Amino acid sequence: MSLTVTVLGCAGSFPGPGDACSGYLVRTPEANTLIDMGPGVLANLQVHIPIDELDAVLVTHHHADHWLDLPILRTAMRHALDIEGLPVVGTAGVYERAKLLMGDMSPTFRWTTLRRSSTLTIGDQHLRFAVTDHPVETFAVRVEAEGRALVYSADTGPDWMPGDLVDGADLMLCEATLSQEEEGTVQHLSGRQAGALAREEGVGRLVLTHLAPGLDPGVQREEAAAAFGDAVEVAHTHLTLTV
Ligand SMILES: [Zn+2]
Ligand SMILES: [Zn+2]
Repeated sequence: MSLTVTVLGCAGSFPGPGDACSGYLVRTPEANTLIDMGPGVLANLQVHIPIDELDAVLVTHHHADHWLDLPILRTAMRHALDIEGLPVVGTAGVYERAKLLMGDMSPTFRWTTLRRSSTLTIGDQHLRFAVTDHPVETFAVRVEAEGRALVYSADTGPDWMPGDLVDGADLMLCEATLSQEEEGTVQHLSGRQAGALAREEGVGRLVLTHLAPGLDPGVQREEAAAAFGDAVEVAHTHLTLTV
């Protein structure tokens, strides 16, 4: 009995060789929730669970590296597996773009649009959200289950005010797209900034994700650890973390 998260893809903005973009499978005894569904995630998902064991999909924002496998999931469900009624939750921006590609998504998907005050219960998983610092509407998410708390930053810059979303999380998957030299150039974080944020919020364990291809994970980890004041890990595809 535990809360785990499996990394199905973690490349920042575009996939490096053999890699996939953002996707995280959150598993508890009663639910399997997929958070983000970038290119390559559907293939990697099936290494861990069959498609018909998914209970919900959540998309944090409409940047292409976070949702472009969603239409392919619908193709699989509709034309091959004959599954209907999967809850899909995302921003209004995702909905508009998904509709352009898929038309009416029902009855395959049961769509819910994320709002600032949204809370969700998926089986034994309780989710709440906070808007991040990013050029388009983006939600970070906190998942609580089994007496543990996981936070995923989605994409964010350093001006994010998470309120109590991150407070004392047992594990935080935090984006670290940029090198320290690139800080402030776009609304993303460096490893150093991720470490500082996690320290300020009293996070128990910090795992960096969404590194831009070509960045040295060792350097990101060291810079984050110095700011966090403790050891830091770097996500890689197919890594499963127990929260
Ligand atoms: Zn991204
Ligand atoms: Zn983004």
